[in-house]
Amino acid sequence: MTPRLKLEGVSVQFAGLRAVSDVSFEVAPGEICAVIGPNGAGKSTLFNAIGGYVRSTGRVHLNDTLLTGRSIHQIAAAGVRRTFQNGGLFQDITVIENLMVGLHQTHNIPLVAGALALPSARRMEGEAIRRARELLDLMGILNLERALVRDLSSGQRRIVEIARALAVPAKLLMLDEPAVGLTTLEIEHLDQVLKTLARDGISVLLVEHVLDLVMSVSDKVVVLNSGVRLAEGTPAAVKQDPAVLEAYLGY
Ligand code: ADP
Ligand code: MG
Repeated sequence: MTPRLKLEGVSVQFAGLRAVSDVSFEVAPGEICAVIGPNGAGKSTLFNAIGGYVRSTGRVHLNDTLLTGRSIHQIAAAGVRRTFQNGGLFQDITVIENLMVGLHQTHNIPLVAGALALPSARRMEGEAIRRARELLDLMGILNLERALVRDLSSGQRRIVEIARALAVPAKLLMLDEPAVGLTTLEIEHLDQVLKTLARDGISVLLVEHVLDLVMSVSDKVVVLNSGVRLAEGTPAAVKQDPAVLEAYLGY
């Protein structure tokens, strides 16, 4: 089977620093792959390289499409979606409206189709709302569709951020420390959401420090240290790898 994501010798150079060094690995369709490693290991830079936010060498393929060298927008349009550290949600509008804004920004679907009275635009909007509600339902938060984002808990917001990233059909979802600041209960919901999305065929790349979440959701773990891929394997195998224990867990 063609891998969903394929990295071949990906490197990122910042002035005198090689932040990501010759990293290769693959992620299958519907697979959850965690990228772990100490602070400064190059995890966020690797995400930025895949998303087109920094220049990289080597090759990144999404299915059969070469992403390397393409723009942020082309890469997003190819199906690579991510969340942002500050969340990027609008606080004073509802959850469903946030998803519609996400869609509008990515695909130029008119937000005010009704006012324009174009049947085709209105049909597109109707279809978009149906999809957005389906997504909220899949993620277990359809009950929040009309809630204002500012009234949500941080855990609920995190799930909405993911839903917003997926308002446009996605092939690969990249999450950089999604469990930060969440309660145990909220992390359990996030755990369920990630597994549901993967079952639905979305591949997930997850940078996460909450190791319980990593161990529970990941099919595969890639360990980075100083920009270099130190190990790769199942969560259980990686946890026992002596090199990983030494570099990452400090044993
Ligand atoms: P991680 O996410 O694993 O904590 P990062 O990818 O953020 O690590 O950073 C990897 C290394 O690259 C660090 O040494 C960091 O200081 C450096 N770095 C990250 N972004 C930049 C940048 N835009 N310019 C220069 N150096 C950077
Ligand atoms: Mg980081």
